[in-house]
Amino acid sequence: MKAIMKSEKIKTITTHYIDGAFVESHGREVMDVIKPTNGQLIGRVMLGDEEDTRRAIAAAKRAFASFGRTTKDERSRYLRQLHMAVSARIDELTAVMIEEYGGVARFARLIVESGVNAFAAAESALQELPLTQSWGKTTVTLEPVGVAGLITAWNANALFICLKLASAVAAGCTVVIKPSEMSPLQTRVMVEALNAAELPKGVFNVVTGLGTVVGAELVRNPDVAKISFTGSVAVGEAIMRDAATTMKRVTLELGGKSPTILLDDAALDKAIPVALSLAFLNSGQACAAGTRLLVPRSGLDEVKRAILDEMRAFRVGDPTDPNIMVGPMVSQKQYERIESYIRKGIEEGAEVLVGGEGHPEGLEAGYFVKPTVFVNVKNEMTIAQEEIFGPVLSVITYESEDEAIRIANDSKYGLHSAVLGTDIQRARRVASHLQAGRVVINNMTDDPQAPWGGFKYSGVGREYGKYGIEAFLEPKAILE
Ligand code: NAD
Repeated sequence: MKAIMKSEKIKTITTHYIDGAFVESHGREVMDVIKPTNGQLIGRVMLGDEEDTRRAIAAAKRAFASFGRTTKDERSRYLRQLHMAVSARIDELTAVMIEEYGGVARFARLIVESGVNAFAAAESALQELPLTQSWGKTTVTLEPVGVAGLITAWNANALFICLKLASAVAAGCTVVIKPSEMSPLQTRVMVEALNAAELPKGVFNVVTGLGTVVGAELVRNPDVAKISFTGSVAVGEAIMRDAATTMKRVTLELGGKSPTILLDDAALDKAIPVALSLAFLNSGQACAAGTRLLVPRSGLDEVKRAILDEMRAFRVGDPTDPNIMVGPMVSQKQYERIESYIRKGIEEGAEVLVGGEGHPEGLEAGYFVKPTVFVNVKNEMTIAQEEIFGPVLSVITYESEDEAIRIANDSKYGLHSAVLGTDIQRARRVASHLQAGRVVINNMTDDPQAPWGGFKYSGVGREYGKYGIEAFLEPKAILE
């Protein structure tokens, strides 16, 4: 790996967004932002501390006194303002996302657009959600839970900020956002966009900093009623444990090891491109990535040939190039993590069909790895059980439909899964047996009103649509 070089244009960020204004950081620790495609220094960010966090929480608490009492129509108007304001910055947000973490162009744009759509989707979900219902002597109202701490992962930071903020605003909650510290440049553009929406001051506040400092203060602070978190299982466990002390409500969106079941009636020319797109989604750095491909044993040779053919389309390289499907890993640490899993796969007896260890040729400067497909994988192997968070696919064979379902469910995770097959009734039947918060049939598709979230270690609670808004609401019954 080349030494970190200095670039000409280094962006420096020294402010947080508190009480409707950009304010200088109280925390003085500085973190470098490194461009993953070439290891260049592209930015510096001053990290917030506990004091910055407490100021942001206090602002959110003050704002909640009136924002918590807003009507559906008022919240809908704020959601429309947010939608317009962020829409105006789609190109810039996409560009900075590609630069900062190396997300490939096609994925980065999709992520930003999904973030923008989250405001419109939350508005329509809010219109459909009855906030007051009465029967007999009873009236039930859904009240905002209070100040919420929103903590995001780096891999789709812009989307997570929009999605969590949209649900919170729809519910009437005020928030402190703790974006991933690995996304300060995109966060800055996002906060400028959100600022242009002209929400009442204090409704949203943003403090960039370390999870163990800013995040931990949000989790511990008694004035925060709710944590909505997207990130790893290890941190999710710590949040659940620590949040219990102040009886916070928690939504945890965690990792995955998603299966894609290829049924024996699937048309390989359609199914294999879908399976590989699912596996290498966001260069494999996606919670929903379909990293276990379950194939009928009798069709393995044909599947291997189809994979080898299709892998030519999965070009690695400059993420600004629209033809590139796999960009660099986000950091040197992630690069090393992926390499260690590829080594582990080989040591445990899996066979490399494509890819393997080391940088792809000509891409030695950045954090690029080779998109790798393993065959001869047993589901109990480390590479089939642990979330790698990189472009590494494990092909596992099965003998029968029942065995495919058993292998798919034999995982601590249960976030996402896919079924690929021609007989749609059969595909639906298989889908009904899968332990996952979401199952897609025959392609990766989305519906912003459908719930998103995990079974088992993939998390607690749901986001999107009415499910996402309800996570920020508390039912209250008044009986006369
Ligand atoms: P991470 O857990 O390292 O960090 C996530 C966030 O938590 C960051 O903002 C970090 O600063 C903060 N944090 C760290 N320690 C904390 C603490 N003690 N208290 C409070 N906050 C703390 O995860 P990451 O590397 O940013 O993201 C990758 C992980 O996120 C993967 O496991 C991936 O599957 C998961 N993810 C899940 C979803 C989903 O929707 N289920 C979506 C994207 C990513």
